[in-house]
Amino acid sequence: MTDGSGQAGEAVTDADALLEVDSLKTHYPIRKGLLRRRVGEIRAVDGVSFELGQGETLGIVGESGSGKSTVARTIMGLEDASDGTVRFDGKEMSELSQSEMQEFRRNVQLIVQDPNEAFSPRMKVGEAVAEPLRLHGMEDEQRRRALVEDLLERVGLSANDADRYPHEFSGGEKQRIAIARALVVNPDLIIADEPTSALDSRVQSDVLALLDDIRHEFDISVLFISHDIDVVRLFCDRLAVMYLGEIVEKGRVEEVLDFPAHPYTRVLLGSVPSLDPSDRTLARPLTETMPDPGNPPEGCRFHTRCPEVIPPDTLDLEREHWQAVADLRFTLQADELPENAHTEGGDWIRNHFGLGDSLPDEEAERAVSEAITAVEDDDIERASRRMTETFSTVCERETPVDADHDGRPVSCHRYDSDVEAEPWPWPAE
Ligand code: SF4
Repeated sequence: MTDGSGQAGEAVTDADALLEVDSLKTHYPIRKGLLRRRVGEIRAVDGVSFELGQGETLGIVGESGSGKSTVARTIMGLEDASDGTVRFDGKEMSELSQSEMQEFRRNVQLIVQDPNEAFSPRMKVGEAVAEPLRLHGMEDEQRRRALVEDLLERVGLSANDADRYPHEFSGGEKQRIAIARALVVNPDLIIADEPTSALDSRVQSDVLALLDDIRHEFDISVLFISHDIDVVRLFCDRLAVMYLGEIVEKGRVEEVLDFPAHPYTRVLLGSVPSLDPSDRTLARPLTETMPDPGNPPEGCRFHTRCPEVIPPDTLDLEREHWQAVADLRFTLQADELPENAHTEGGDWIRNHFGLGDSLPDEEAERAVSEAITAVEDDDIERASRRMTETFSTVCERETPVDADHDGRPVSCHRYDSDVEAEPWPWPAE
């Protein structure tokens, strides 16, 4: 649904940005004990920056728990920002007067994932769609009704539907009504938080096509939150990829999805089901468990799952051997070893991780053998410690900063000229 010209996908300059988010943080305190002492914090959003231009659609994609919905809610003012700024139409949110805040609430509309949550079952659809108009001071009931009927028709329903109740509509129809309600106050920006993920796939494409028509017709910007790469590819001009509260890569959709640079983006693409199960271009995470956002990994937050994690430069290991070693190390650390591993024994473990009979590097082989002996003793902690001792990586010691990759920012040491590691080719050979 992007226009293919590439124009809309160009990076937005500050001068034409409608929304500017700079170093935004949303942290939640973790409290414990009778006195509810603060013992830590969940860093749901941790220093996120992006811009969105007039009429542009920016997708934010990531797994559940990545913080993408919290970004949306913080921009809307539904969560308190812990730090950073949000500017809308050149004005900083925290400095808005009451009337400016009211204007912001009219200008920025939210569409949520589950349309059932968006409506009161006792309110007729016409009243629900007209409600924002009433809240923003339009007293004339007839005018409200005329606007609502017009919008219901524009979103593919009929004017008479205004007199029906929400339960009389399907999920897809309710989402159309939610879109009509967002449009009724003529907003500049719609924040759509997984707007189609509760719908079946046929209805999904109808609703997406409607959103796409509408954003072009009304020249509305859309911040589109989704976990679904395919949907983002269809709908968005630009894309930001989030992992554990941070943006790891951003750029034009076709650049990021056809030439993904960050290992996490490659893993996300690898999780899209392939018709060919032997497809070797798929990248898989080393471990399944998303780390706790209350205690994110040091250094690069993705290092515990990254299939491209950088090997220690003191060891001489081929890429395949290093991947097998890293897989064992982080599987032990995440406590994801199959339950039968310690009874199956060393040969089974070597085979399971693709470690071969022995590793060519003596030091690496010694560490792996001792770790496997510890697993056979059912001492996973000792095994994990032994692997960590020998296979320490720059990815866990140092936090990557945004590096320039063909004009787009990628937060990974493999793109950092100070680190001795090249990006791996894509698609994987
Ligand atoms: S910094 Fe290291 S762990 Fe993080 S994405 Fe890059 S290669 Fe993977």
